[in-house]
Amino acid sequence: MFKRIALIGFGLIGGSIARGARIQGLASEIVATARSAATRARVAELGIVDRVLESNAEAVAGADLVILCIPVAASGDVAREIAPHLAPGAIVSDVGSVKGSVLRAMAEHLPANVHLIPAHPVAGTENSGPDSGFAELFINRWCILTPPDGADADAVEKLAAFWRGLGANVEIMTADHHDKVLAVTSHLPHLIAYTIVGTAEELEGVTRSEVLKFSAGGFRDFTRIAASDPTMWRDVFLTNKDAVLEMLGEFQEDLSKLTRAIRRGDGEALFDHFSRTRTIRRGIVEIGQDEAAPDFGRKHAALQRPAE
Ligand code: NAP
Repeated sequence: MFKRIALIGFGLIGGSIARGARIQGLASEIVATARSAATRARVAELGIVDRVLESNAEAVAGADLVILCIPVAASGDVAREIAPHLAPGAIVSDVGSVKGSVLRAMAEHLPANVHLIPAHPVAGTENSGPDSGFAELFINRWCILTPPDGADADAVEKLAAFWRGLGANVEIMTADHHDKVLAVTSHLPHLIAYTIVGTAEELEGVTRSEVLKFSAGGFRDFTRIAASDPTMWRDVFLTNKDAVLEMLGEFQEDLSKLTRAIRRGDGEALFDHFSRTRTIRRGIVEIGQDEAAPDFGRKHAALQRPAE
């Protein structure tokens, strides 16, 4: 599909793309680089990519697909750095969890003869670093492409086909719409999880060992989300500020309604609310975005290896 893919940044997402693309044979060559010498050395040791290069400029030279797999706030600086070294006609993409600010930060630096098509695979875990990736991460998950107005349709389709090759379903929308949708489905839940885990940590009269011991009562699920990478999530809240604040406003209103229902002993209001939310959960299971089974001991779906 591609002659050379250059991955800039090699953590959970970059590492999963490399592993999946290699198994599926989506490129003749995969090259990678990372910011630190330690990560570059580890990537070379893992032997997943064909070459590990010292600099971003070297990595993108001659690549027909370049993917930035780095925290969103770094996208603009890296785009400026790679711009003079990009091959004409190359597709330049990313995997950032916020799209509007990334699109604006990258677009101002890139030459007109490359195709900027931002992407966001809506798949992840709380782990980071070069060892955390796995080829199956994107299977049956959504990857959202947010091409700017006037983007080349063939380039968009080629990138969509790449993500389908990694097992993802692809949806296309504007960057601003993406940021609004993800503010409620991902960014706000992370903020709530970070808050609750912090609250439990500072609670007087309940010991830390009690919090850990009885975590299966609901808290445990929040702790997984609240263990996500601090740099990545700091950048998400700084770069998607408006949409997150809007969703937070809605959330605070709804929380006030539930608080009032509890204070007034309004069981009917609580029951109605919880019945509606249960329907959402069942809908997610029905469309195959989660299993009905508890998350303990689940196995990853096996990635289809190409026929010999
Ligand atoms: P990660 O495992 O922490 O890896 C990040 C990579 O970026 C590392 O190679 C790191 O290099 C490099 N890096 C960090 N800061 C940098 C900087 N200022 N300039 C250049 N490179 C830098 O992160 P990840 O989970 O793969 O996330 C990468 C991107 O994917 C983020 O934009 C995130 O929003 C997006 N995303 C994440 C998830 C998720 O669940 N984790 C899901 C979807 C999308 P060193 O190792 O050398 O420090």
